[in-house]
Amino acid sequence: MSDCLFCKIVDGEIPSNKVYEDDEILAFNDVAPQAPVHFLIVPKKHMESLDDTTDEDAALLAHIMLKIKDIAKELGLENGYRVVINTGEDGMQSVKHLHVHVLGKRRLLWPPG
Ligand code: AMP
Repeated sequence: MSDCLFCKIVDGEIPSNKVYEDDEILAFNDVAPQAPVHFLIVPKKHMESLDDTTDEDAALLAHIMLKIKDIAKELGLENGYRVVINTGEDGMQSVKHLHVHVLGKRRLLWPPG
């Protein structure tokens, strides 16, 4: 999608601080971190949100989920972390390209706002 921020990051048109990349996904540090470690994982293929996924995306979604622990370990999140997928208006999703937040290196509060 030509006007999608995260597609532009995937394409390298907009720079990012990459923490992991393979053929299917890219992970990069959030530009406005809410914890000492805060990165995003995005599928390279454009999909607007979780609401936009189908059974055909099962392997891709599983791939993202299974990579989280590896990247978390690389970044020193041995004491735990939080995984968040903001979805749609009530979920306060601001970038309309599916992304998984991973936050850690501090004690996170619950419940969220
Ligand atoms: P959400 O509110 O769940 O849609 O999250 C979007 C996230 O993208 C926010 O945490 C932003 O700080 C982050 N973000 C926006 N622009 C950039 C960028 N250019 N590079 C990295 N993260 C970004």
